[in-house]
Amino acid sequence: MSFVSRFAGPLEYRVSDRLQGPVVHCFSTRLGGVSQGPLSGLNLGTGRGDRPGNVVKNYRLLGRAVGFSPGELVFARQVHEDTVCQVDGSWRGRGLSYPGSGDYDALITDTPHVALTVFSADCTPILLYDPEHGAIGAVHSGWRGTAKGIVKKAVQAMTRAYGCRPQAMVAAIGPCIGPCCFATREDVPQAMEKALGALALPAICRQAEGYFVDLKLLNRIWLQEAGVGTIDTAPDCTGCDPVRYWSHRKLGQARGSMANVIMLTDEGEERL
Ligand SMILES: [Zn+2]
Repeated sequence: MSFVSRFAGPLEYRVSDRLQGPVVHCFSTRLGGVSQGPLSGLNLGTGRGDRPGNVVKNYRLLGRAVGFSPGELVFARQVHEDTVCQVDGSWRGRGLSYPGSGDYDALITDTPHVALTVFSADCTPILLYDPEHGAIGAVHSGWRGTAKGIVKKAVQAMTRAYGCRPQAMVAAIGPCIGPCCFATREDVPQAMEKALGALALPAICRQAEGYFVDLKLLNRIWLQEAGVGTIDTAPDCTGCDPVRYWSHRKLGQARGSMANVIMLTDEGEERL
């Protein structure tokens, strides 16, 4: 198992030990943090009805542990589409400090100290790193994004923008809803089969009560299709463990959001 937990007091976050170099990253849990009531714990979503001061405090706690500051964060409105946005240093602070940064579900950069962030609460978060070119990506891939192959599009965008070689890239697929808990109607498996053909079949299980779909496996297949050399997958299911993770399926609208963050550090600049 190459996903491990790191702790700072009550705070817990997950990292992939395959994703190493002049880069910091995290997949947050709901443990730690100062939010109260139904959002009790580490809520990192700005649109969940939390007190803005609590969300900023939560980012400070997480950032101190992981190695980024709230002013370095960049995040966008996630709309379950497949648009990849290339960002640079001028984007620092967009999201937390002034919302409305556009509708994107994937962000890429090669600029240090730009902390790319995607949110999740059952959807699949994927962090990308190219150690050869010092480039990163953060992808939000819910079932609609998975059907659209957003993670492959993010890899291709990094190849176009920065000259990345997929074989050299590392992808970490974070905690999300597993096939144990993701019961769907037939629209979800149909969309996956339309996109991936027979490749999708191992990720679809038909039972009397409906379909069960494995989003982590489908995103892994997209990454393999993109030619990514190293793929690490978190074993955790958010639906099985709503005490540790925010799960939209298990908690409904009254839930917080996890933040999945990746940022290049100065070490990379010095190396170049
Ligand atoms: Zn589960």
